[in-house]
Amino acid sequence: MPRSAAPVAIEESGPVTSRFGPPPTPAIGLAAVAGHVALRRFLMERTASRRLPHALLFLGPTGVGKRTLAQALVAQHFCATGDGCGSCGDCGALLRGNHPGLLTVAVAAGKSSISIEQVQKLAHDLSLSAQDERGRMTLLLGADRMTAAAQDALLKTLEEPRPGNVLVLTATRGDAVLPTIRSRCQRFALLPLAVTEVAAVAARLGITPAIPFEVAAGCPGVLVEWGGPLVDRLRRGVAKLLAEERGREDLPKWLALLHEEQPEEAEPAQLRARARLLLRLAGSLVRDAVVLRASGGTATIRNLDQAERLAQIAGRAEWADAGAALSRLARAADRVEGNVDPASALFCALQPAADEAARAAEA
Ligand SMILES: [Zn+2]
Repeated sequence: MPRSAAPVAIEESGPVTSRFGPPPTPAIGLAAVAGHVALRRFLMERTASRRLPHALLFLGPTGVGKRTLAQALVAQHFCATGDGCGSCGDCGALLRGNHPGLLTVAVAAGKSSISIEQVQKLAHDLSLSAQDERGRMTLLLGADRMTAAAQDALLKTLEEPRPGNVLVLTATRGDAVLPTIRSRCQRFALLPLAVTEVAAVAARLGITPAIPFEVAAGCPGVLVEWGGPLVDRLRRGVAKLLAEERGREDLPKWLALLHEEQPEEAEPAQLRARARLLLRLAGSLVRDAVVLRASGGTATIRNLDQAERLAQIAGRAEWADAGAALSRLARAADRVEGNVDPASALFCALQPAADEAARAAEA
């Protein structure tokens, strides 16, 4: 079957409850997804009555479960028993990543965007008749990572949908998707999960994260990405530097965090990914410090184990303007996505603060 990108196999999610008898086959349908209750109910109804919108756009923060939900929707649609049983022929093909009714387009390995060629290939594939009377589903993962030309190319497919085709788009940054594409999709905002739901997902995946569940900010995918001991060490390192930073003499310490456990000759892409992670960790800590200063309470603090450092960060003048500080971190993350040197992007976000502190100390 022609594909527009490397096939992405449906991820298994474990059974919600255990039963007597032989071990149940892990369900992969909408019922097995954590959180997003109202949205799942809507999608279940529409799938059962074969009235899915021809284009859906799932919007939400990284790791909130957009892809998981989209894959569960696909399983629900094609499953022989209609619930994503995980054991029928269709579910088996989805789990193996070779179901003829599913096309997947995503950012290819080593690339940073979805190209116009990928979208043109998709348009061609969709112009052919579906082999299955249940039609065809397309997962377009990371619609906000399409180049401008790719987005233009997708428009025509969305404007003149062939009957029986359903496109499911996912995006973290809604404003990076053309308004003309957004308006042709039925849009759904995926909200962060409760801490208990995040913990339940971790238990089901067998993950015992090194970071507190709260740091995931309702996004279970963050646990998978951040749950290891290295990220926890980096988080503590960032907290320490944000709390104690004394100026330019701390620059080597930031560099050390950028290079910790990286190969001697780290690829620019690896350093960019690390800089992005450090900025997100800094954002999480600064956000906590701002909340702590505003409310004095710790009820909604995510990095509660760093309470002492957070109080220090909250007391530092350069983080006093919370809006400016957080937008500086966000801007730096955007610059890291581009061709800016990761180290300098990191320092632009964090070093001005150090300079200000140094000047204040000298004054
Ligand atoms: Zn099935």
